[in-house]
Amino acid sequence: MKGKVFVIGLGLIGGSLAKAVRYAHPEAMIIGTDVSEKNIQLSMLLGTIDDSVSTLEAGACEADLILLAVPVNETVKILTQLADMNLKSGVLISDAGSTKDTVVKAAKPLIDKGVAFIGGHPMAGSHKSGAGAAKLHLFEHAFYLLTPDESIEEKKVEQLKEWLKGTRANFLVVTPAMHDKLTGVVSHFPHIVASGLVKQAENYSKENKLISRLAAGGFRDITRIASSSPEMWRDILLHNRNVLLELMDDWLQEMKHVKGLVEKEDSEEILRFFADAKVFRDDLP
Ligand code: NAD
Repeated sequence: MKGKVFVIGLGLIGGSLAKAVRYAHPEAMIIGTDVSEKNIQLSMLLGTIDDSVSTLEAGACEADLILLAVPVNETVKILTQLADMNLKSGVLISDAGSTKDTVVKAAKPLIDKGVAFIGGHPMAGSHKSGAGAAKLHLFEHAFYLLTPDESIEEKKVEQLKEWLKGTRANFLVVTPAMHDKLTGVVSHFPHIVASGLVKQAENYSKENKLISRLAAGGFRDITRIASSSPEMWRDILLHNRNVLLELMDDWLQEMKHVKGLVEKEDSEEILRFFADAKVFRDDLP
């Protein structure tokens, strides 16, 4: 497809989306912006973008497709700013944020003006961040959740998929609330647990320095995601507060249950706890 694509936020996700758009649509012009001059320079150097602009307005008003790939609190602020701009007729806007309910609500003024905003979340990533971490194949075979408002025409959703086909992701349309529940379970809450496990090890390492050296293998595997951007995760928790509070209550119940089994030395039920988890884990695709 021909046209101008404006990418706001040239980090891991924005850079990877820009590369995927360029791959499928080499004739499109890709403009980028970022609050970090270093990420802009690197994106230019790597050929991720063709040009950069220093103000939102300069990029947004000319664009046929606007992709936001900034922390979700910034997404909300930028959507509010975009709603006050004179955007091109027919422009498509999407974001890549890890939460959707608050983001889609923030896009309501744009949607009410007739602008096609379609929430998006490519469900692949890394604990790395910044323009240097961006990869063309980051989203290959991953799910890419889209959360269009009911008022958005189907042809606009198809147009967005066409723009993003270079991601080679599997697109799935869900409601914003469903998105936040699903990702709360499989992504956001596990993140809290991973960081909690690291904090527990850190506390014990004050008593015994061997902890850091022994925290290898399995511990490293299940806590890898705790190295992700703290700012990004702070915003995600605040956006998905209600879902996460419910999941934390469930988790406390589960831990209470396991604690009871260990206290009672209930060998049969402890075995069942691990066996049930293994069955579900082994069945995951
Ligand atoms: P990142 O830190 O690599 O990139 C974010 C970029 O946004 C940075 O370059 C930063 O300088 C820039 N930025 C911040 N505020 C800005 C603003 N107001 N205007 C312009 N640029 C601004 O982070 P990322 O991993 O690319 O995450 C971007 C978005 O993608 C987040 O909303 C996140 O929830 C979502 N996401 C992340 C992952 C992941 O695994 N990292 C996966 C899927 C979706």
